[in-house]
Amino acid sequence: MNSTVIDAFAVIDPEAEVRIRSDDRRHVFHSWSAQGAIDPLPVASGRGATFWDYAGNSYLDFSSQLVNLNLGHQHPDLVRAIQDQAGRLATIQPSVANDVRGELARLISGVAGDGFTKVFFTNGGADANENAVRMARLVTGKRKVLSAYRSYHGNTTTAISLTGDPRRWANEPGDGSVAHFFGPYLYRSAFHATTPEEESERALAHLEQVIVLEGASTIGAIVLETIVGTNGVLIPPPGYLEGVRALCDKYGIIWIADEVMVGFGRVGEWFAFQAFGATPDLITFAKGVNSGYVPLGGVVISDRIAAHFDAVPFPGGLTYSGHPLACAAGVATFGVFERENILERVRDLGTRVVAPRLAAIAERHESVGETRGMGLFWAIELVKDRTTREPLVPFNASGADAAPVAAVAAACRKAGLSPFTHFNRVHVAPPLVISESDLSDGLDIIDDALDEADKYLA
Ligand code: PLP
Repeated sequence: MNSTVIDAFAVIDPEAEVRIRSDDRRHVFHSWSAQGAIDPLPVASGRGATFWDYAGNSYLDFSSQLVNLNLGHQHPDLVRAIQDQAGRLATIQPSVANDVRGELARLISGVAGDGFTKVFFTNGGADANENAVRMARLVTGKRKVLSAYRSYHGNTTTAISLTGDPRRWANEPGDGSVAHFFGPYLYRSAFHATTPEEESERALAHLEQVIVLEGASTIGAIVLETIVGTNGVLIPPPGYLEGVRALCDKYGIIWIADEVMVGFGRVGEWFAFQAFGATPDLITFAKGVNSGYVPLGGVVISDRIAAHFDAVPFPGGLTYSGHPLACAAGVATFGVFERENILERVRDLGTRVVAPRLAAIAERHESVGETRGMGLFWAIELVKDRTTREPLVPFNASGADAAPVAAVAAACRKAGLSPFTHFNRVHVAPPLVISESDLSDGLDIIDDALDEADKYLA
């Protein structure tokens, strides 16, 4: 044993680091990776917006892990709730009634707003989307589903088929009853639009064309990330979601809002759609519902759809649906949101700290084409040339092509920040409990790291 305690949360333990790395490299098969090409960092501990490796280095967690750690590492209320629940009833199957499961379903439907009273619990986001689509197909009797390019919906068969990014490609042919369309993305408008209003109008006209050409009588659902997450922090322009609602009503289609990444406070609302003027039929959630301390996801079901299953059995279920440890952490999450004023603080930090700082960063770095976001969810889009908007690294780049953004990420890590990067973007998505000074320090680190991107300009 050769470990040194350096403060309340961090240790230096080179022997543990070697052992953990060896077990990992020999035995753990990692997601989305060529196993021989990776060298995962052994992580020793975490607290709030920071985690530590076994060399005692600290990292500001500017990705909230996979944008799930909304209440930060080791929030004492969540840890205590899980410990208490484990001592009381660690697990119970889904067909019985359970106190924390019922309480969490009541709390979630309460914040979803009028017209929502029931929740179906899943283990994560993919199976939430999977089951929402199942509900839509059963209610409408129509099988086809539309989803957007530049989207991610999860890694099960239907969810990966819906996904509009390269993670789908190797999984094709998937479920053949999915068609993709272009969502709004003004900076790289597929519609040659120059204003948010034009983008909204043209994206809706395009969506209606797709509905008509794919056959409205065949389409049961449209699945949309309310704000596109990994694929760019794309905020719907004015009127877009209202227009989607109207098209769904016109053609008898169920609107499924994928709120897996943006729900539970990420943009300063319980659900991101609440920042806009339209309400979906089904809401899928996961991640922030309990910060991922125990896997949990689900579907919030509008009363109209729930009523369909009052007499007709729902043909779906999971052994761990509404797992008490996960639900206990979810109930505790609601307590923290209220006590720590999470929604207000996210809106405040977003507008008062992040927005002006990113605007200044854009001024300082020629490689920044656009910054966009809300709450604690932002993207810095990097370009080779501001006029042509050519991305600093090409779509889906890897290896040498991805070097400029890899260099930014490496500079961030060296300075003590764990970043979220994707293609030609750096995202800002720290835990919602981050202190204002850590947030500013993290933005300073990103600012400095972008010097690396500037070196690659045309
Ligand atoms: N939907 C969105 C928008 C996501 O960002 C993700 C995961 O990143 C998922 C669905 C899938 O969630 P999970 O990984 O919990 O299955």
